[in-house]
This record gives sequence, C-alpha cells and structure tokens, in this order.
Amino acid sequence: MKKLFEIKDIDKKTYEEKIKDFLPEKIVDIHTHIWLKEFKEKQQDRVVKWPAMVVDENPVEHLIESYKLLLPGKEVTPLLFNSPSKDYDIDALNDYVSTSAKRYKLPSLMLCRPEWTAEEFARKLKESNFLGAKPYLTFTPDYIPRQEIRIFDFMPHHQLNVLNSTGKILILHIPRDARLKDPVNLQQMLEIERLYPNIRLVIAHVGRAYCPTDIGDAFKILAKTEKMNFDISANTNAIVFRHLIEAVGPDRIVFGSDLPIVRMRMRRICEKGVYINLVPKGLYGDVSGDKNMREVSSSEAEKLTFFLYEEILAFLDAARKTELCPVDMEKVFYSNASALIEKAAQGPKCQLQMVFPEKNFKKVVVPSLPPGYSIRTYRKGDEEAYIKVMENAGFDNWRYVEQTLKTALPEGIFFVVHNKTKKIVATACAQNCPTELHPQGGVLGWVAVDPEHRGKHLGYIISMKAVERLIKAGYKHIYLSTDDFRLAAIKTYLKMGFEPFYYQPDMKKRWADLMNQLSMKKK
Ligand SMILES: [Zn+2]
Repeated sequence: MKKLFEIKDIDKKTYEEKIKDFLPEKIVDIHTHIWLKEFKEKQQDRVVKWPAMVVDENPVEHLIESYKLLLPGKEVTPLLFNSPSKDYDIDALNDYVSTSAKRYKLPSLMLCRPEWTAEEFARKLKESNFLGAKPYLTFTPDYIPRQEIRIFDFMPHHQLNVLNSTGKILILHIPRDARLKDPVNLQQMLEIERLYPNIRLVIAHVGRAYCPTDIGDAFKILAKTEKMNFDISANTNAIVFRHLIEAVGPDRIVFGSDLPIVRMRMRRICEKGVYINLVPKGLYGDVSGDKNMREVSSSEAEKLTFFLYEEILAFLDAARKTELCPVDMEKVFYSNASALIEKAAQGPKCQLQMVFPEKNFKKVVVPSLPPGYSIRTYRKGDEEAYIKVMENAGFDNWRYVEQTLKTALPEGIFFVVHNKTKKIVATACAQNCPTELHPQGGVLGWVAVDPEHRGKHLGYIISMKAVERLIKAGYKHIYLSTDDFRLAAIKTYLKMGFEPFYYQPDMKKRWADLMNQLSMKKK
C-alpha cells in the first residue's frame, strides 16, 4: 500500500537521532484538524493561502496514519477539531468531527460561529459531546476590518459564559497583526482568565509569536497569569519557547502539532520581524506573491525535513537551555493536556446536597439568641441590607433578592439584627423549591453571617428558625445545597440534624474527604 506521504532518510535520521528518545512514550496532541473536501461549498475565505497547498483534506484516518509515519513507536492521542474556514458547511464538518471522535474514541472540540446564541451554542456542544470550542477569527462579521478584529468579536461573552459554566476547553487563536505582544490581545486574554475562571483556556501557537520580535512585553504580563495554557503548535521558534518556559513554567505548556499543516517540508526563519517558510521549489505551488514563503535551491531543499520536527527540535532546544527535566517533558507532551481533557469531560462538580430527615423533626428547637441581638422577618425596604449581609458573608455580586422573594414562604426570610447598630448581621430563608430529586421539597436557603458577628451561633439559630418554618408549613422533604469548601457551614448543618445526600457517584468520596477535613480541624 502506498504511504500517505514520503519519509526520506533525512526525516528518519532526524527523528531517530534527535527526537525519539527525548519524547515520552505516550503523547497528547491538543491541536489537530480533520475535514473532508466534500463539505466545501464556496471559495471566499480571507486568510493565508499557503496552508491549503499542503493537503486539501485530512480524514481522521490520515491523521492517525500521520502519527505512525511521523512519530513511530509513540502512542498519540489527538484532540480533534475542524478546519476553520468559511468555505465549508460548518455543521457538516462538526458532525464529521464528532462521528470520527466517537468511532475512534477520541476527544473533540466544536468549531463555532459568534452569531450562535448561548442556547444554540450550549445545545450543539452537548448534543455532540464536544469538550469545548475552537472559535476562529475568520467568522468575525465582515464589517470589521481584519486588522481591527478583537477576540470578543469572534468569541463573544455569552458563549464564554457557557464554556465557563460547564468547565470546558477553549483553544484560542488570537487575532491582530502584532500577534502576542498586541496590548488588546493581552488585555482580553487576561480578561477571559479573570471573568471565566472555569474555562480551560489554551492560547494556540504561543499566541502566534513565531519570531522574537512578536514577544514585546507579553511574557512579563503573562508571567502573572495563573491558569491559561499555551500550545506550541506550528511554532518553531526556540527563543520564544525559552521565554514561554521562563514565564509560565512547564505546567501550563502543552504540545500541539496543528496537523496536517506540519506535514509540510520546511524550515522557518525570521527576517525583519517576518516569518519565512523555506520550502523546496515547486512543492507548494506558486509562492512568488507570498511574503511568508520562499523557495530554496535543490541542494538546500535536500536538508529540509518536516515542519513538525522543526517545532519539536525548537522546543527541545529551549527545554535544554531552561534545564527542563524528563518529568517536565512528560508534562508538556502528555499529562498537562490529558488532565485538561479529563477535567473537561467531567464537567463542573455538582453542588453537595443535604437532607433533614423526618425523624429529626421532633428534635428541632430554636435556641435563644445571645444578648444584644433580635430576630425578625423580611419587610419591604430590606433589599439593600439583605444584599449587604450576603456580600459581607462572601457571596460576591449576589443578585438573588427578587428570586428569593418569589420563592420564599410568607414570613420565611429571617434576619438577625444587631440591636445597637440596627444592622442585619445574619440571615437564612425557608424556600419552596421542588425539583426532580426533591418533589414537594422545601429548602433552607441563603444562610449568611456577617464575619464580625461570627462565633455566636447566629448561623445555627437562624437556620433552625428557617427549618422550623418549613416544618410548620407542612414540608416533609427538607433539603439544602452547599459547596465542598464551606466547612464551617457544613459543620453547623450536621449539628442541626442535616445528613449528606448522595445523589451522584462521586459524592461518597467527596463527603468522606470532607468529614476527614472536619475531624482534622477539631484536633
Ligand atoms: Zn490550527
């Protein structure tokens, strides 16, 4: 059978002598494109043309064969996504990616368009089991000139919100001619990290910093980030890689190839801040009008190997200069990306729940308040003070007053008032909140105590008051939701008579960990 592409002696030699032993046996490739040319509809795209000369399609089987040819002996897991082009039927391409992912049991991302509503975006993600999204600047509305494109023009906030709430991956190819050093890009990358902390953000191609002149102040700024990751795909610059390693360390760098483009035979140089791919004569069509392409003589061409090898060699060079050890290499080429994929597949953790069993109803006694405090229920005009006590207790940007007023039982929102200052210092409420898991359920909701008034059992007292209200109203099924990190609150709930409610497979373990932490705190 004919091979997909030719492997020359120079390629074999490069791989065997300079690459093979420096890479781990298992590799995750976080950046790959698959597509079929039959989904092409038109020719209108406004992006660089030379990549189209390498291959005109990349069926998943070709991708798999590429690894056998390029990285023989290694076990490579690719993260699949589409070829981002306006010339194709995107839904058909996404279907192809998700079917291929299913067939070969591989992870995949969805190519997305900025005009999709949040509901549309969320539905498409969920239906096809995509682990996240790969937006692309080519889908920016046409009225925005290419040089003025900003990240949020093709990756809007409402879609980022969906990714954030589901803990998914975002592989972001940043726009603009100044590339990584562009202040607008940097600002918006930081904004995504700050506003959407649950997104597993990966900046593609090290922010397209293909030449040292693309760096500017970028790594000084990026050294202060805490979560965003960088893929090294289609980048061959050892200086850029070195600065990247120094800025963010080996835990946030991930290997990506950008296959099939890195099947190209080339070497990249930088001249006056422009990257130039040196290629064999005639191999990639007429390159005379392309500032990023230059043909070399046939004796020079003999020395050219694959783009992929150039990328890996540059990273190995940077790794040596920064003294990365084999464990670090294993992180970059395997475990960092595999952790991202695994976590995105799990989705966000569900909240913990607790129930107040009927057998404990008769034990409900509301203790009296310490001197200087009194209890009352909500009155019109309390809204501002209600928000304040919630925010003081750590519920930032709490915007649930209206919703709580609608679902609370009559005389069901309780406040502890500090008599001397008239300040509301603790609250809890009895809410009607039936769900599938809790039909006819009543909730102990929004428990908060002002930090200045803690240690006086105010949380216990006011929560008991709300539970008592639910029981008096005739609720038989009383429950609450909380988070793993609210140890003090959970301790109070356990003391009140609430019990853990195991409604997800991971809950037994989470509760066991929690109980452990609580008993350690006692010591
Ligand atoms: Zn790509």
